Amino acid sequence: MKKIAFYGKGGIGKSTTASNVSAAFSEMGKRAAQIGCDPKNDSTRLLLGHICRQTVLDLERERRGGEILAEEIVHEGWNGIRCIEAGGPEPGVGCAGRGIIVALQRLKALKALDDIDVALYDVLGDVVCGGFALPIREGYAEEIYIVSSGELMSLYAANNIAKGIRKFAVRGRVKLGGIIGNSRNVPMEKELLEEFAKRIGTKLIAFIPRDNIVHDAEIHRQTVIAYAPDTAQAGVYRKLAADIDSNTELVVPEPMEFEELEGLVEQYGN
Ligand code: ADP
Ligand code: MG
Repeated sequence: MKKIAFYGKGGIGKSTTASNVSAAFSEMGKRAAQIGCDPKNDSTRLLLGHICRQTVLDLERERRGGEILAEEIVHEGWNGIRCIEAGGPEPGVGCAGRGIIVALQRLKALKALDDIDVALYDVLGDVVCGGFALPIREGYAEEIYIVSSGELMSLYAANNIAKGIRKFAVRGRVKLGGIIGNSRNVPMEKELLEEFAKRIGTKLIAFIPRDNIVHDAEIHRQTVIAYAPDTAQAGVYRKLAADIDSNTELVVPEPMEFEELEGLVEQYGN
């Protein structure tokens, strides 16, 4: 089983990209699962056609440690993709990172993902907290992809995630598979992302254009693959899935110092 994770700053396009890649994997005939690890709970919306109605933590609260069945937390999405949302604490109460730990432990105990080909964890990455590091730390995910645009704060989060990967790669199996560029139409964005990837020891595995078809598909609660399968954008997501599938260049990243990162962004920004 391939166990991958998408990390990145909030709002950068992780869930959209993850859902399209899961859809592309399922088109390739693979049994795919997507696990949302973000208290927003919306990772699998485009695959389910609605916001997940029952997260793992919803059920944990309801049952108070009692029995939970796999079928109660694994929801069937587009083309048979298995969709799971870890969930989060009630707003203002408790710790979201802790919630992810509880949810992933429950999922493991239920052996709900033992028979699939590819598991994709979609994880919020601008919070440097143990819970969000868990998929890396405990080996739930072995191949990490960082979603980033060319904006400084997105690269800053990406660099911090690389620091987390480096820390846990030393004793575990986790490696960085590459940077997924998701365009915000910043000048020289592709070149900047390529250079950033190179400096931290990896590669830009995809550069996804910013396109209104993503927005149209989102309004219709679908991935681009499902909503507009013949568009160039759908092709970009399919190519990314194929490139992840065949990727063998997995590295322990070498994160940058903040001043170096700042300088890099400045250099490409003019
Ligand atoms: P995250 O999961 O990182 O918080 P989302 O996947 O929810 O981010 O994306 C945030 C917003 O950006 C969504 O409205 C989504 O439709 C939009 N978006 C993501 N990628 C693209 C793209 N390549 N082109 C246009 N809009 C995009
Ligand atoms: Mg998301």
